[in-house]
Amino acid sequence: MRATFPYLGYDTPAIRAFFDCIGAEVVEPLPVSKRTVELGVRYSPELICMPFKVTLGSFIEALEAGADTFFMAAGARRCRFGYYHYLQDRILKELDGRCRMVPVGQYSPYDFFFRVMPRVFEVSPWRVMRALRLMLVKSVLTREFRQGLNRLRAVDFGRAEELRQPTYEMVVKAGTPAEIAAARRELRRTFATNGDRPEVAVGLVGEIYYTLEQGANQDLELELGRLGAEVLFERSLYHHLRYLLGVDLSSYRSRRLAGRYLRECPGGEALRTVGEAMFYRRRNVDGIVHVFPFTCMPENIALEALQKFSEETGMPVLSLSFDEHASPTGLVTRLEAFVDLIKRRKRGRRLHRG
Ligand code: SF4
Repeated sequence: MRATFPYLGYDTPAIRAFFDCIGAEVVEPLPVSKRTVELGVRYSPELICMPFKVTLGSFIEALEAGADTFFMAAGARRCRFGYYHYLQDRILKELDGRCRMVPVGQYSPYDFFFRVMPRVFEVSPWRVMRALRLMLVKSVLTREFRQGLNRLRAVDFGRAEELRQPTYEMVVKAGTPAEIAAARRELRRTFATNGDRPEVAVGLVGEIYYTLEQGANQDLELELGRLGAEVLFERSLYHHLRYLLGVDLSSYRSRRLAGRYLRECPGGEALRTVGEAMFYRRRNVDGIVHVFPFTCMPENIALEALQKFSEETGMPVLSLSFDEHASPTGLVTRLEAFVDLIKRRKRGRRLHRG
């Protein structure tokens, strides 16, 4: 069996660590590229959501590299996400009859980790538990990598980009809990800003795949960093794993905060999107960047709630929807205008106070 999973931005090495720890033979997915998107679009139903198309493209690339067992998140309520794995399974089987899809149950994680995985890989539940623990520990490292990189980019973009690749390689290589702890210490030293603070900070909210996957969102964190804005984020593999295991307090906080603008959950992550925007406001960020796939119904509802939130609080919100035609130039122009606005707004407030 040659297992694979969809590429997931900087969190990919943490997922890889899980599979390595249970002794699976892994075909590592390629970073999301133009070709990944083109492949996904070619084999997907036209009106399906973008995360379906991009993850399918990622699977097709892994299939070309010899993968035969595909692990895909599954089981969302009130949302098309619940059908992703059925449909992807059918498409992949049409391409190669030997393909097998293993749905990763989002609402029955204990069943998935301690019943499904031991059966699929013929290992003990203890070994899966060890692998799960390693993935959690490594996802702390990948999250800190992204946080440190975003902060340094906003302070010294050139140095951050110089350090990015060698530091990421160190993150990828750290395989044991002791190596991961050492890498975290090194990471803090490498990405230290020596007291320099970014001029402005923005909170990133939205549909989970588009907030996590830099290839899919055209690396808007890099663009914002280039413009001198630090990108803060709540969504990461670490938080998602904790959420699935029922121990992530930030998700409960977001749902509680969202209640003012969105009482009922319309599906997907709309409640978290709105709740996180309110949380960032409490942290005094200068603006909110909201990202989502063009046809995403829950995030379009969140968009309306965010507009009301922005009108009432004065917090600038930039909403960006993505489809296969999204232009990188158009994205950069919008980000430039937004960062310019929040910088001027901040300077104006300082002058007003002083
Ligand atoms: S959250 Fe949005 S993008 Fe994701 S599956 Fe649901 S409708 Fe599609």
